Amino acid sequence: MSVVERQEWDVVVVGAGGAGLRAAIEARERGARTAVICKSLFGKAHTVMAEGGIAAAMANVNSGDNWQVHFRDTMRGGKFLNQWRMAELHAREAPERVWELETWGALFDRTKDGRISQRNFGGHEYPRLAHVGDRTGLELIRTLQQKIVALQQEDFKETGEYESRLKVFQECTVTRVLKDGGRVSGVFAYERESGRFFVLEAPAVVIATGGIGKSFKVTSNSWEYTGDGHALALLAGAPLLNMEFVQFHPTGMVWPPSVKGILVTESVRGDGGVLRNSEGKRFMFDYIPDVFKEKYAQSEEEGDRWYEDPDHNRRPPELLPRDEVARAINAEVKAGRGSPHGGVFLDVSTRMPAEVIRRRLPSMYHQFKELADVDITAEAMEVGPTCHYVMGGIAVESDTAAARGVPGLFAAGEVAGGMHGSNRLGGNSLSDLLVFGRRAGLHAAEYATGLAGARPPVDDEQVDAAAAEALRPFSAEGEVRPEGQPPENPYTLHQELQQAMNDLVGIIRREGEMEQALEKLADLRVRARRAGVEGHRQFNPGWHLSLDLRNMLLVSECVARAALERTESRGGHTREDHPAMDRDWRRLNLLCRLTDPTGGLAATDPVAGQISLTRETTDPIRPDLLALFDKEELVKYLAEEELYE
Ligand code: FAD
Repeated sequence: MSVVERQEWDVVVVGAGGAGLRAAIEARERGARTAVICKSLFGKAHTVMAEGGIAAAMANVNSGDNWQVHFRDTMRGGKFLNQWRMAELHAREAPERVWELETWGALFDRTKDGRISQRNFGGHEYPRLAHVGDRTGLELIRTLQQKIVALQQEDFKETGEYESRLKVFQECTVTRVLKDGGRVSGVFAYERESGRFFVLEAPAVVIATGGIGKSFKVTSNSWEYTGDGHALALLAGAPLLNMEFVQFHPTGMVWPPSVKGILVTESVRGDGGVLRNSEGKRFMFDYIPDVFKEKYAQSEEEGDRWYEDPDHNRRPPELLPRDEVARAINAEVKAGRGSPHGGVFLDVSTRMPAEVIRRRLPSMYHQFKELADVDITAEAMEVGPTCHYVMGGIAVESDTAAARGVPGLFAAGEVAGGMHGSNRLGGNSLSDLLVFGRRAGLHAAEYATGLAGARPPVDDEQVDAAAAEALRPFSAEGEVRPEGQPPENPYTLHQELQQAMNDLVGIIRREGEMEQALEKLADLRVRARRAGVEGHRQFNPGWHLSLDLRNMLLVSECVARAALERTESRGGHTREDHPAMDRDWRRLNLLCRLTDPTGGLAATDPVAGQISLTRETTDPIRPDLLALFDKEELVKYLAEEELYE
């Protein structure tokens, strides 16, 4: 038996982005001793990169806004596949969560009359995104961190110790959720710097690890997004929901190659930027789908008037939901009307004075100046789709954020599925983190304190197995590596995975290509068992990547299998061979589970794969929520029998 240091907590939160920090604050405030553990430095979560803002129907800029309109927009954006109860809770509670941030010290941009300013974004009927220039995520994280420090100072006054009730373990990676019977008992983790293993014992674990973008070659996501939380949940026995829905943001940088994929915020279009092809045409007017025809301007003049007079004009089609804009850009490039480096042009230089651009979009100005030597106040940017966000995720109970089927496991933020249906609207992630982060923290604390003395014990055998699994890349053991064959290089495997997912399960999908992707994943899975590293456990990035590969391979298989199964196009899932949205598919969720329910991976047939898929019928949408839509609109989405009901 290996000797691994153990600590006892009530709630462990895995991830210190917006969702994790909000969960931790809530759990601590509800009296649970709470540990937060994060792979990167504290404060360097993905949330920091969020630029545009937090969507919340505060009606500060247009008094017509309210939670019902926000709910409607979110359901439309997700093409009605959203877990409607989550979309309802999100729309109702987001304004309170933004106000709360302000009481904790967040400094939002203001309107002339001193209210929190709100900006336009794709798919939102009214200006709705509370923002801090184009650095909103940074302010959100700064505020939540400040709140954590304030709570630690309170604890110091009472107990003489800052970390007695709320402690952050930074640069530590969780590789397994531990269980006692069916229930959660803690997590197994390693410290990235020293390679030291440790266990945090806790009856409740909140997973808040963000997304999966690093499985794709062109992505706006940073190194942390290796799908760890998705994989941890699968391995613990929880299902993942609708993993086929991956959002390709329409505007990532396309040039130079070293920065390909880095995000160009939607605020550029929200503030008046337009998309043009190589012929100078504002092509989005040719791509307004029937379901949105009545809501979008049919001429450039009308679209331009909307910025000044939104009550009497319709919005420009550059502000369609992201899936529509990404597909349109893809089609223009494919038709030979792209920009020199394979994107299209996004122009603010002819739309706003230079000083307004620099004030409203400071990060974009610097990003292009420094990375591409382009002055966006004088010339257009070149942009193209980039893998940005995963709508699929851990299947959770809408009200409590409890992961299905695993008592003690909770999930919030990008790692949780359901809230955004088949496509997320911009700004709806930051609000999602706050609303469901809080709910996850609350219910995790209630669950943990409710157990009183009956905490599930941590099983030594599981700890030993987790330690052996984590050490495997150092031995790249003989039984899986034929004699004399060198270990596989984890970086090569990662590159091959990214290329395969980009090319075969990317923005436009075809049956044959997805089958090829599954074959490639099977090959990579076998080779990943032979991934080996040299050196020791002190800061060894190759070792860390070898461990992350398990997660990326699991999650990529979920995406590919579910995408192959869903024979329609909807939101972030476009099938060239099934181009239409099918009303019968709206009622179907796809659930991915591990084929080997014990969570072991070695025993699984490497070729057949590790994931099994089931279909599940969605709950009917509550009648009072359906009544928020016109019948004519519902006809486009709901199946006959649902309309009849
Ligand atoms: P994150 O903020 O990514 O945090 C994940 C945490 O989990 C990190 O602390 C990480 O270290 C930790 N972690 C991961 N794996 C492990 C592990 N195995 N063990 C321990 N810790 C682990 N959304 C909006 O609503 N508005 C915007 O304007 C906006 N702009 C964006 C701009 C960019 C460039 C990007 C990439 C995204 C943007 N988004 C925006 C999306 C939004 O930022 C993310 O969806 C959101 O921040 C995810 O938050 P999270 O708390 O779920 O995860």
